[in-house]
Amino acid sequence: MADKTLDDLFHDTLKDIYYAEKQILKTLPKMAKAAQSSELKAGFETHHEETQAHIERLEQVFELIGKTPRGKTCDAILGIIEEGKEIIEEYKGTTALDAGLISAAHAVEHYEMARYGTLRTWAQQLNMPEAMKLLEQTLKEEEATDEKLSTLAITDVNKKAA
Ligand code: FE
Ligand code: FE
Repeated sequence: MADKTLDDLFHDTLKDIYYAEKQILKTLPKMAKAAQSSELKAGFETHHEETQAHIERLEQVFELIGKTPRGKTCDAILGIIEEGKEIIEEYKGTTALDAGLISAAHAVEHYEMARYGTLRTWAQQLNMPEAMKLLEQTLKEEEATDEKLSTLAITDVNKKAA
């Protein structure tokens, strides 16, 4: 078998998160629709817009490495999204729904943070400062979203669910 290097890992992982972001883009409107709290609904809507920018940035990174943007099925995100769907179905109309939605969204954001953190570090190692900046920008937005979700859970949603 031919040797593989960090370039191969970088490209494969880029395809993984590109696929994941497209799945997340389809899922966020469903989360917004399900949310009971207007603040949570607005949060999902804002992150839906940000997710479109994440996809565009990934397309720029593909361009920087001279590859056509293409996704590769990511079973991890499909599983995380499936669990979110279960929460929507099983907690529909209940007091705990929003707390459950936030827990599902946290799982999504942490998956993304893991991927973007890795890709950013690899871009640095591979001497791609422009790609690094794009990945870092998205990583910051995922972290900010994760924190906003935590704040909303602690100050409001968890109390209402209890
Ligand atoms: Fe994202
Ligand atoms: Fe995200």
